[in-house]
Order: sequence, then C-alpha cells, then structure tokens
Amino acid sequence: MALSIIEALDTAGLTGRGGSAFPTAVKLAAAQRAGAELIINACDGEIGAAKDSYVLRRYLSHVDHGAQLTQLTRFIPVIYAVHAGTDVEKFLLAQGKKVLPVPDRYVSSEASSLVALQHGRPARPMAKRTRLVEGGRTSDGKKTRPTLVMNAETVLRIAQIEQHGPTWFRSFGTPAEPGPRLITITGAVFSPGVYETQAGPALTDILALAGYVHRSSPALNIGGLGGSFIPMDQVPDLAYSSPSLATAGAAIGPGIINVLAPGSCPVRTIAGMLTWAAGESAGQCGPCMFGVPAVARGFQQLADGTAGPGVLHDLARHISLLPGRGACHFPDGVAAFTASAVNVFSAHLEEHRNGHCTIGQPGAAA
Ligand code: SF4
Repeated sequence: MALSIIEALDTAGLTGRGGSAFPTAVKLAAAQRAGAELIINACDGEIGAAKDSYVLRRYLSHVDHGAQLTQLTRFIPVIYAVHAGTDVEKFLLAQGKKVLPVPDRYVSSEASSLVALQHGRPARPMAKRTRLVEGGRTSDGKKTRPTLVMNAETVLRIAQIEQHGPTWFRSFGTPAEPGPRLITITGAVFSPGVYETQAGPALTDILALAGYVHRSSPALNIGGLGGSFIPMDQVPDLAYSSPSLATAGAAIGPGIINVLAPGSCPVRTIAGMLTWAAGESAGQCGPCMFGVPAVARGFQQLADGTAGPGVLHDLARHISLLPGRGACHFPDGVAAFTASAVNVFSAHLEEHRNGHCTIGQPGAAA
C-alpha cells in the first residue's frame, strides 16, 4: 500500500532545512489538521545564505510540486516570501507566482515576521503563544490564519521523497540526519557558492567542495549570526554532522560556512557583524534595545583598542542576559554567536584588551 505523504516524510526522516531541524512530518500533519496556508520562505535571511533562492531558480517546478503534495494549497495558493527588489522576486513574478515581498532586514524573514507581514502588519516577530500552524496574534492583537512556513529546500525535499522514495532519501546522510542537503560556502575559498552535500563526510571534504581553502585562515563561522566559530586547526578532526560539530560547540544549522579571511583580524570582523546585528532587530524587546547593542559596543571597543579593563567581564554579563528574553530567538542566537567568538578568540581578545593586535593595529581600518 502506498504511503501517505506524512508517512513518507516520517519514514524518510526529513527535517526542516532552515536550521531548526524539526521533523517535517510532525509540522505538516499539524498544519493539515488546522487547514493552514503555506508560505515558502526563500529569503535566505541568515548572513551568507543563498541556498533557498538557488533552489527556486533551479527547481521551481519541483518546489511547486512539493507545495501541492502538502495538500495546503488546494484552496489557497502557495505564497513565496522573498526579499523585495531582488532578482528572485522578479523571477517569481515573471513566472506568475504569488509573492510576499519582504523588507531586507535580518529579523524580517523569521517565520512569525512573515506571517505578520502576510496579514498586513510590519515584518516583525510575533510573540508566539500558540504555534503558527494553529494561528497566532500580531503585536496589535490581530488573529492570524494558521500558517505553515517552510523554506524552499525543505519543500524541494518533499517532492524528491515522493518521487524517489524514503529509502532513496535515507541513502544520503547519517541515520540521525538523513537526506541530501544544500550548503552555502563563502569567504576565503576558491569557489564560493551553493553545493549539494549530506551529513557525515569529513568537514575538510565539505570545504573542498568550494575548492582551495586558505590554510592560514584563523577559523570558520558555521551557521552565520546564529551560529558559532571553529578554529581552523580543529577542522580536520570534525565531520559535517551535528554530533561531531557539537564537540566544537557548533551545529549544521541552516547550512552556511564562512571561512574567515587570513590576515584580517577576527575581532574586527566580529565587531562589524555585531554592529550590523544591533541595527537589524525590530527593537521591540529589552534584549534588542539594550543587550545586543551593548555586546556590539564592547566588541567594537575591543576592535578599536579603546576598551577598558573590565570589557570582557561586561561582555560575559551582557551575553548571559540575552537568552530567553526576546519575543523571538534573535538575541539567543547573538548570545551563542558572541559566546563562541569569546571562547575561540580568547587569546586574540586579550591582545586587543591590552591595546595590541598581532594581525593588525587595533583601530586601523579593517
Ligand atoms: S527579540 Fe529582538 S528581534 Fe526578536 S522580536 Fe524582540 S526586538 Fe525583535
């Protein structure tokens, strides 16, 4: 007897490819029960991400088919969420697709931000007292339709599982993290881009997909602003799987690796990322009004060589106050990212605290 799509996804072990790794079968079953509408997220909102717009440009018909398989589009057309004014938006409109144009801000592509935007509200994360697939409320109290938000790669995988079967899907990856998956590799590599891969290979083999990796790079960032750092000398000991990466404090997450440039100071790079992050939040919760800017300020002072002696202590205190206090997980991600940076670059941060930088002078242009 043929499997239902929910059974097929469950057997295949598909998890969301946006970073949360939640079982797709569970999410879809809840959405079907609630009669949810479907938003396909191709904003690639994390720093360095490019895979979901890549999926739409290459596999739009497969994604359309995957959307139909969810049975959420029988009465309401699927909505494609992409950043406004981008080439992928123009491409989708030219294909006659229903597009949700999303402002180009970091938190605008968070799932509940997309639902708020779809309901005519600003693209800001909603306080999620109920699951989005059961309907939520915008910040001004307006009730929203039950909505399932999945990223484009996840919907592509649904179509592939229906076409090739769960056994084919499980022939890739590991038993715990099955299936093919896409990764975006950027930074100090020969050929930055989006690559098809799977969980399990050596991390060095994953990096080799993008060609030559500069050996004197100090570290790589995995997962973007919500991710963490791995020193380059640990890379040969790791596999591209969540259990192995966890030994270095990292995870597969949304499938992004950025190899830091050799010869450029990581403290300045991170300060730049945090300063950008501080300007990207919706600024509607305490951690984003005070905590994230304080963390960014501390790193910037370290980068500039103007930090006081207590800066690392203050940073640790601010980082500890970020998690679990916002309406969304943005401050949690920034806390984990910064804690990882402090841990991995502790020796170099200490140099900066003392006004030195063996890679470049603190305060000099990066
Ligand atoms: S935690 Fe920050 S990003 Fe998230 S909703 Fe609150 S202000 Fe916005």
